[in-house]
Order: sequence, then C-alpha cells, then structure tokens
Amino acid sequence: MRADSFLIAAEGGPRSDVVDAALADSAPTVLWLDQPARPVAAPALDGPTTADLVVVGGGFTGLWTALCAVEADPGRTVVVLEANETAAGATGRNGGFCDASLTHGLENGVAHWPEEIADLVRLGDENLGEIVATIDRHDIDCGAERTGELNVAVADWQAVELADAVDVHLAHGIEATLLDAPTTRSRVDSPLYRAGLLIPNRTVMLDPARLAWGLRTAAESLGVRFYDHSAVRSLEATLSSIRVGTDHGTVTTDRAVVATNAYQSPIRAIRKRVAPVYDHVLATEPLSSTQLASLGWMGREGLSDVGNQFHYYRLTPDDRILWGGWDALYHFGNRVGPDHEQSESTTRTLARHFLATFPQLEGIRFTHRWGGPIATTSRFTCTWGTSHRGRAAWVAGYTGLGVGASRFGARVALDLVDGITSERTSLEMVQRAPFPFPPEPLRWPAIQLTRRAIKNCDRRDGRRGPWLSLLDRFGIGFDS
Ligand SMILES: Cc1cc2nc3c(=O)[nH]c(=O)nc-3n(C[C@H](O)[C@H](O)[C@H](O)COP(=O)(O)OP(=O)(O)OC[C@H]3O[C@@H](n4cnc5c(N)ncnc54)[C@H](O)[C@@H]3O)c2cc1C
Repeated sequence: MRADSFLIAAEGGPRSDVVDAALADSAPTVLWLDQPARPVAAPALDGPTTADLVVVGGGFTGLWTALCAVEADPGRTVVVLEANETAAGATGRNGGFCDASLTHGLENGVAHWPEEIADLVRLGDENLGEIVATIDRHDIDCGAERTGELNVAVADWQAVELADAVDVHLAHGIEATLLDAPTTRSRVDSPLYRAGLLIPNRTVMLDPARLAWGLRTAAESLGVRFYDHSAVRSLEATLSSIRVGTDHGTVTTDRAVVATNAYQSPIRAIRKRVAPVYDHVLATEPLSSTQLASLGWMGREGLSDVGNQFHYYRLTPDDRILWGGWDALYHFGNRVGPDHEQSESTTRTLARHFLATFPQLEGIRFTHRWGGPIATTSRFTCTWGTSHRGRAAWVAGYTGLGVGASRFGARVALDLVDGITSERTSLEMVQRAPFPFPPEPLRWPAIQLTRRAIKNCDRRDGRRGPWLSLLDRFGIGFDS
C-alpha cells in the first residue's frame, strides 16, 4: 500500500505495534457525550398538541432557533422535536472549534462572494460575539476559551499557501501572523511543522455537548418544550397551519423550522443540496504535566494542518488531545446512522498521523474513538429554503464549520419563516443555492472521483489536476 501524503511528509510515521498499543483500550464512544452532565432524555411526544413554532432537530441549529425565537418574543410557544436526544448528532460529536467564519474559512468566502465578504466577516464576528454573550448571560459552563486558531504547514507547498493566506486575512481586516518553523514549534512542538498562521481572535474552543445542553436548559427556562425520541415523519400544510407528525403524536403549528442537517430529512429538497459525510475523531487520556510540557501549547489554540485532507486538533478542558479529520467518508445512498460511526481503517490512520505529529507522546493511550455525520454542500457553506407555503424553513450544510455558523443559520431560518426581510436574508449567500449534488447512482462515483483527485493533489504538492480544476471553474468542491 502506498503511504498517504501525510505519512510521506512524516517520512513513514510510527511502527504498527506502537499504533496498536495506543488504540488498544479505546472505547467506541463519544468523549463529549460520555459525562455526568448529560441530561435525562425528555419524554417523547404522545398525542396531539399545538405550538406557534415547531423546531425539528435538537442540535445546535434547532437549539439556537428555539432560544432566539423565545428571547425575541417571550410569548411565543415553541416545541422542539428530536429523533434521538439533544446533541446526539454532529452537535455532540464535533471538535468544539467555535469559529467566527460563516463561510467555511475566509478564502472560501472570498472565492464565492467577493462582493459581500466584508459583510459576511462582520456578521460572523457579531455572531461569535452573541454566542459568547449567550454563554455568559445564561451562565453556561462549557469550558469556553477564546484561544484563537493556529494553522500549521506540514509540507513546503502548504507553507506557501499560509504565506498567501496571511495577506488575504490582513486585507480583510482580520488579525493574522505568519510564523516561521521555529516560532511555530515554540508554540506547539512537532517535528513536522514548517510554518504556522496564527489567527488569534476568531475562534473560541469549547465543549460542544455542554454548550448544547446549556442552550436547552436556557430555552426550557423560557418555556420551550422539548420532546426526545420523537422523530418527525411528516409535515403537512393545511389552509391555516402545518401538522407535524411523529410516531405517537402531532403538533399543529403556525410555523416550522427544520434543522436535521446531515440526517434524512422530512423535506426532500434538502437531499439534492446536501451530502452526508462521516468524519472521525480520537481522544487521548488526559496528558501528564510532562507530556504537556513536551508540547508547549501554552496558548491552547485550536490547531489544524492545511492540506486538502487535514486534521483538526485541540486540548480539551481536562487536557486530553482531541484529534479528528482526514477522511471524509460518504456512504452510498446518503446513508447515515450508528453503523457508520466507527471505521477501523480511518481510526488507525488517525492514530498513525497523530503519533507522526507528536512522536514525543509515544506510549499515550487513546480512550475514545467516534464518528459523526457532517452535511456538506458543493460550496462548503449552509443553504436555506422554504416550503409548505412559506410556513416552513430549513437550513443545512455547514460542512465542518457549523458550531458557530449554526446560530447564524438559525437566525436566517427564523427570518425566512417569519417573512422578515433583513440584511441577513438579503445576502447572496442566502438567496442563491449551491450547485446540487447529482442523485444516486451518480453521487457516489462523483464523490469518490473527487476524493481521489484530492488525495492526488496533496501527493503532488498541491497541484490540482484536471478534475479539480474543472470543479474549481464552476465553484464546486467536496470537503469536510
Ligand atoms: C466529527 C465532527 C467534527 C466536527 N468538528 C467541528 C468543529 O470543530 N467546528 C465546527 O464549527 N463544526 C464542526 N463540525 C460540524 C458541526 O458539528 C455541525 O455543523 C453542527 O453541529 C450542525 O448542527 P445541526 O444542529 O445543524 O445538526 P445536528 O447536530 O446533526 O442536529 C440534527 C438533529 O436532527 C435530528 N433529526 C434528524 N432527523 C430528524 C427527524 N426526522 N425528526 C426529528 N429530529 C431529527 C438528529 O437526531 C440531530 O440531533 C463537526 C462535525 C462532526 C461530525
């Protein structure tokens, strides 16, 4: 088997027995959901009820929709219907990078919306500020730390890309500093680092499950009713309402917001715009003070390397390293569900790459390994729509950067469903839909072809090749 581009950069990586030992005790569970603060599930919906607004899905998008709705209008009756439990989807499984970017990174925003990127940057900063204000206002204990992010190059061509990226950030008024290899290594020590880009002000690292549970408690305190294990099977428009049906109940409501992201949605229109891909994550045991000292990492920044296939990693509040990314696995027919939450080969690849990055941590044990579904669009940002005579709105497709952007997504969905024209709803990013993914049986081969082209691009020092160049010309891509 050919070494992947990361192991080529790492000149081979760790021995197999070292990887085996590191993974030997890892449990197939989600670190964030595996804690005593996890709330008891709410009872399932049973029988008929009514509400002014129904929210379908209890992840970040649904939680922000519900909370923003009652904060803006305390008299509004809001019901949240969740197929599983609060934060059981991507919301409780992610890296906890809460970023100001609404566009999956500045460069992607510049490429798609050069005319409106200044507004998108400002709206993203305001959105992050409002997330932090909500955490403070409701006293949510989610380990939030405004650490900023550090992007690292592990190959020379990536160092060149970082040098370009610093100029783009500065041109848009975003503080960013290019670091040479020794300075990067003085912040976080890995023999692989060739350069770094520090963006100090636009990322808050947090525990996503504790944020989600805190948002739920805040919403409940303002009267929002939650029903867990209540998958929505149907939305039917009547002349004056929508009837939302679950297996054992119905809610008759004036408006509905559907926030099901990567999951198969009761709204079919979402399916052509969004592809569900699985992203996988490892977490280590808490690091000893000696292990921490061997890394430095005093600024506790969120890190990611910057190939087209990349890892994101961070210190958790209890000083583990969470390490995720690299493969973005699409399963034929848009399949999602527990069967896809573990991938032995991706887990091994992640562990090898981790130990190649931090060889000084040889002997460390991974305690948790898990996966979760990301909804990606061909432009890597979310997309919105309305249905049911304008009484329902939906938003999905944040790709790998939805922890912060989901609040913005929710605010836009609320404006849309309430018929409000705002600066947000007037954005081209909101008005224009992304290029659709083809349906099956074409979707799977198209995605595999693109994934292969991405791997080859990273092997060839970032040279894009004909297929990616063609997609670039149409502003289309595949990412996690
Ligand atoms: C492994 C991983 C790492 C990530 N890392 C980051 C990161 O570090 N930073 C970042 O910004 N983003 C990250 N993301 C993306 C981020 O987690 C998501 O964009 C965000 O959580 C989306 O929230 P959501 O509420 O839209 O979707 P979800 O959290 O997936 O919520 C959708 C909910 O809808 C429910 N549902 C589905 N169908 C129905 C139905 N019919 N009826 C009722 N309920 C239904 C589901 O059970 C689920 O709870 C990551 C994602 C993954 C998977």
